[in-house]
Amino acid sequence: MYIIYIHQESENSQKIMPDQFDRKKRSEIMSQVHSANTTPEKYVCGILEDFGFSFFTQSDDLPGKPDILLPDFNMVIFVHGCFWHSCPLCKRAKIRPKENAAYWNRKLDRTLERDRENKIKLEELGYKVLIIWECETKTKKIDLLKNKIIDFLHKA
Ligand SMILES: [Zn+2]
Repeated sequence: MYIIYIHQESENSQKIMPDQFDRKKRSEIMSQVHSANTTPEKYVCGILEDFGFSFFTQSDDLPGKPDILLPDFNMVIFVHGCFWHSCPLCKRAKIRPKENAAYWNRKLDRTLERDRENKIKLEELGYKVLIIWECETKTKKIDLLKNKIIDFLHKA
C-alpha cells in the first residue's frame, strides 16, 4: 500500500481524506479529474489529490522548474508536452516541422539536452524524478497513468 497523506498545501485549501469518501463523492471527484478541459498538469494534480498526497505546483528554484513537487518525499514530477520535449512514446512528437528544419531541430534538440541535464541535476540534489507525457494524460489511459504514478510514489 502507498502512504496516504492529507492534502494541506493546496491553494484551494480543500482537505482531502480519501477514506472518508463514499462512492458518490469519489465518482464526482473522478469525473472532475476526467474533465476534458483540464490541462495535463491539472489532470495529474487531480490524480495526486485523489490519492491524498500533498504537493506544490511552484518549484521555481529547482533545476528545470518541475511542474509538481512532493516536498515530503523529495520527489518531482514533470508533465511534458509531447512535441516540445520530443516524447519517445507517440508518433505525433516525432514529426518535426519541415519549414525551417534547422531551426526547429536545434531548438528541440536543445530542449531534450536541457531536460536530460535538469534530471541529472535534480537527482544529484537527491530528488526522484518522474516524467509524465502529455499523451499519457488522455482519458482512456487514466488507469495506466495512475499505475505509473503509484509505482513512482512507491519509491518514496
Ligand atoms: Zn507523447
